[in-house]
Amino acid sequence: MCTKCPLHKSRKKAVPGEGNPKAEIFFIGEGPGSSEDEVGRPFVGEAGKFLDELLASAKIEREDVFITNIVKCRPPNNRDPLDEEVRICTTAYLYDQIRLIKPKLIVTLGRHSMHQFFPQIRSISAVHGKAYKKAGQVYMLMYHPAAAIYQANLKQTIKEDFKKIIEILRQIGEE
Ligand code: URA
Repeated sequence: MCTKCPLHKSRKKAVPGEGNPKAEIFFIGEGPGSSEDEVGRPFVGEAGKFLDELLASAKIEREDVFITNIVKCRPPNNRDPLDEEVRICTTAYLYDQIRLIKPKLIVTLGRHSMHQFFPQIRSISAVHGKAYKKAGQVYMLMYHPAAAIYQANLKQTIKEDFKKIIEILRQIGEE
């Protein structure tokens, strides 16, 4: 088991990610929460239940996609992952996962995940639900499902954004 960064000291289980190795859509959250840390699977807690709802309403099967996080181990007390933890974990795992799966579309969930690929974008409110191409890879930038748990008015916005995923995928297929 990985001991490359200090997060290994406080985690219960590493959460590498899961899904279809041939997935066209690759979701990236921030990091495991307490439920994920218990079971070793991504998005199984409250935010995960809402993600399942979002996928269902967008007519996407969870087993068809790949779901992971920027950091694979839970930061203590759900603090933000430190820059060094992010650097170590992404260079050891995330970038290889993307290279192996070669998704058509990467969907970032939340600000941290967005900043990993688009560090210059200040605010997610101006870009959510939109597709961007960078170095040949298409990304869609989404609010984090947990944001809707704290801000109920975002729920409908995230749902509408998720419903655009299949259309974006279709457009990528036509390029
Ligand atoms: N929030 C995340 O960003 N990732 C998870 O796996 C669960 C909650």
